[in-house]
Amino acid sequence: MTFDLTSEQIALRERARAFAQEVARPRASEIDAQEQYPWDIVKALTEAGFMGMTIPSAYGGQGRSFLDAVLVIEEMAKCCTVTARIVVEANMGAISTVMAYGSEEQKRLAASLVLAGDKPAICITEPDAGSDTTAMTTRADRRGDRYVVNGRKHWITGGGVSKLHLIFARVFDERGEELGIGGFLAMREDSKGLRIVRREKTMGLRGIPEGELSFEDLEVPANMAVIPPSGFKRGFADLMNAYNSQRVGAGSVAMGIAAGALDLAVDFVKHREQFGRPIGEFQGLQWMLADMQTQLTAARLMLHAAARSRGQAGQSAFPDPMLAAQAKIFASEAAIKIVNDALQMFGARGYSRDLPLERMARDARMFTIGGGTAQVLRTLVASKLLGWKLPQTREGYLNDIARRLAAE
Ligand code: FAD
Repeated sequence: MTFDLTSEQIALRERARAFAQEVARPRASEIDAQEQYPWDIVKALTEAGFMGMTIPSAYGGQGRSFLDAVLVIEEMAKCCTVTARIVVEANMGAISTVMAYGSEEQKRLAASLVLAGDKPAICITEPDAGSDTTAMTTRADRRGDRYVVNGRKHWITGGGVSKLHLIFARVFDERGEELGIGGFLAMREDSKGLRIVRREKTMGLRGIPEGELSFEDLEVPANMAVIPPSGFKRGFADLMNAYNSQRVGAGSVAMGIAAGALDLAVDFVKHREQFGRPIGEFQGLQWMLADMQTQLTAARLMLHAAARSRGQAGQSAFPDPMLAAQAKIFASEAAIKIVNDALQMFGARGYSRDLPLERMARDARMFTIGGGTAQVLRTLVASKLLGWKLPQTREGYLNDIARRLAAE
């Protein structure tokens, strides 16, 4: 299925497919079992030009589109989810945030690191601030020519392997007045106050550490504060808007896992025989396959549309929030079902660790959670659809109701 891809995009996809099958697939099971970050694959991705593809050419990248990145991510995820996630974070998320809002100095720093193989970490979630990101307590206090950051983050992808960290924190000026929420760039190796406290024991995606990080008087030079044009006050909304690229990336990983599982299932049902016939001859399985393919196609179309929406209709440098949210909800939920159905078709073999399906099922389970849960994203979609803010705190909800009653 090519839709209206250019010949260059088709060639890029072929190149990614070959890389995924030859380099990533043979390592996928080992990466999962050993729970080790695959530095060998990172090196190969860097040499093949898959790290920092979306970075503009002025900063040494290839200036590729998010759709290009989605095509590559799907191919990688068919073979190795960890490899696909590295490609996401080296082309979307933190790097695209810095490229959109960073100073020249910040862009050059981030680009040089990613193009050399770094997968930056984005640090938003805290133990008491998950879906409710604005409840974060990590703070950055201005002290002369620097900010001093204190706080704790958890479930940070790449904690312990990423060099560059984009840390979200509440910002306070010299007088202690709160200015809003901002982003701060810190390098793990150069920053004394940045400590990896522990690694989470994850169900899947075991080749990338999910880290708990603490910041203890972490000093960040003032020129490493990432300040969107709207300033700190409205800056958080802008910084979170940048996250829409990450959402499209995460949805694409889920979709790629599903595509890989479906490929395996199609091949298996043609060869496995029961009752003297290939099991693919049974309509019970044929209809399952048809539903899997239909869901996969829908997910792919939605993700492509979201990736293409970048910069359209006066929008920002990021995918449209509504399309990105819908695509991630649909792709992440479809992936869980498709992989589960593929596993079912393999019978007992599907439940075995000798085959990749049980790993794919564990990996796929994450994508309705990380990067905005399926429930929170539904609230975002409903809010835009209704044209209401839909505040989630009790106080915000009561104020909103009072305002509406007053207006009636
Ligand atoms: P909670 O917010 O406590 O939610 C618990 C449940 O309540 C969920 O089902 C949720 O949908 C539901 N819920 C909460 N609020 C509402 C509401 N208003 N309406 C309806 N339902 C609601 N974070 C980072 O900052 N950087 C990372 O790199 C990163 N990587 C991650 C990688 C993995 C593998 C995972 C699992 C998570 C990662 N996260 C990361 C954290 C992730 O973004 C959060 O887990 C997510 O935002 C949800 O927060 P929470 O886990 O605290 O769940």
